[in-house]
Amino acid sequence: MVICGAGFGGLSAISRLTRAGMRVTLVDGHLYSTFQPLLYQVATAGLNPGDVAYPAGGFARRYDAIFRRGELAAIDTASRRIKLSNGHDMGYDYLILATGVTTAFYGIKGAAEHTFGLYTRTDAIVLRDHLMAGFERLSVDSGDLNVTVVGGGATGVELAGTLAELRRTVLGATFPDVDPARVRVRLVEMAPHLLGPFHPKLQEYAKAQLLARGVDVRLDTRIGEVTADQVRLVHGEDLPSDITVWAAGVAAGPGVAGWGLPQGKNGRIVVGPDLRVQGQDRIFAAGDIAVNPDDPTPQLAQPAIQMGRHAAEQIVRLEGKQATEPFTYHDKGTMATIGRRSAVVQLAGGLRLRGTLAWFAWFALHLFYLLGGRNRVTTLINLTYRYLFWGHGGAVIVGDEPVNAQELPVASKNLVLQTVVVHWAKPNCPQ
Ligand SMILES: Cc1cc2nc3c(=O)[nH]c(=O)nc-3n(C[C@H](O)[C@H](O)[C@H](O)COP(=O)(O)OP(=O)(O)OC[C@H]3O[C@@H](n4cnc5c(N)ncnc54)[C@H](O)[C@@H]3O)c2cc1C
Repeated sequence: MVICGAGFGGLSAISRLTRAGMRVTLVDGHLYSTFQPLLYQVATAGLNPGDVAYPAGGFARRYDAIFRRGELAAIDTASRRIKLSNGHDMGYDYLILATGVTTAFYGIKGAAEHTFGLYTRTDAIVLRDHLMAGFERLSVDSGDLNVTVVGGGATGVELAGTLAELRRTVLGATFPDVDPARVRVRLVEMAPHLLGPFHPKLQEYAKAQLLARGVDVRLDTRIGEVTADQVRLVHGEDLPSDITVWAAGVAAGPGVAGWGLPQGKNGRIVVGPDLRVQGQDRIFAAGDIAVNPDDPTPQLAQPAIQMGRHAAEQIVRLEGKQATEPFTYHDKGTMATIGRRSAVVQLAGGLRLRGTLAWFAWFALHLFYLLGGRNRVTTLINLTYRYLFWGHGGAVIVGDEPVNAQELPVASKNLVLQTVVVHWAKPNCPQ
């Protein structure tokens, strides 16, 4: 069995397969699994990048699986082999694709070049360092810092709310010579409301909480173009924007087209009711990358977890000469946080929470779903510190000068390669 993608979908498939005695190889382009729901905390200097990253090899070994680093580049369905972008190839009896999605710019001019994404650990570090450099610049020049968050879904709301709090309470303590009023946080959403899937009362609450934190919330507003220092709205207005964050949509990465599988809306791989890729007997897709056009699931952690488990169960059934079963998503509810002691929770039974109670529920659930004891402890300490010592100068985790991953010096790249070689050469790690 080969599982591509060490996110929620891929990891949740492993244990069922190894328990059934199958040999499982987990493949991911990174050495770690990223806990995306807390990336905005890394970007706003509340968590360390390591708090939201867990070693994929360690997780695989915990369930007697093997980990290989590499990006899936091609699938030869006739010979049942996959090729990785690092040149390695491997055979499979069954393949589960759980490679997630990435930022979609919908062809908006300048968006790819001039906005920051928030989909990977690197995205979060790069954004944090640019924000910190922006704050620092205010202490030496007379301008303002305009931050625009595009997209009023959970990611956009969480980021805009936390940035506004950062400005109001933390900035003053960390950069005492900067007037927080010089930092402007704006949230732009093309729909008439925030947080699309939530009840209208929770949407209104989220909007009111953002306004109370001083966020300039623009609903019914479409971005037409992004430049290095502006966002141009479709209705003709130009708004200054030194840092523009794109949280407005997701699509399959460009590499997926090379796999030769059917793709649906936003490039997602089309699956049938049992999660097998359309036209394929031995390839399943799970999580954000997969879509059953007749019964699409939201692109969230819970559907990915349930789909990963379901795909694994179907493989066990097929090996036992049993027919596969259709996937049914059990919606447990959804939540989003706006800031300190402010969140919205909507449970499947119709129960709705908001405010402090919802915020504690959000806090507890995120700790529960984080992988690894160390990550839970450090996240608990860092977030507790952040929210207890609010307004204290040490409540931000500072980074360095902004750096792009592509611009790392050759020496750093070599170090990364050496780390991979050491990992692969472990004596009890089968090749
Ligand atoms: C900022 C942010 C906040 C979010 N907040 C929430 C939230 O609060 N609650 C919630 O339920 N959901 C949230 N989500 C959505 C949730 O994180 C995703 O729905 C979930 O991660 C999907 O899981 P997945 O396994 O499909 O993909 P992912 O978790 O994205 O994992 C995909 C994995 O595949 C790897 N990969 C990609 N391409 C390849 C390749 N070619 N070869 C090999 N490996 C590859 C990646 O490195 C990655 O490890 C958030 C998402 C983001 C970006």
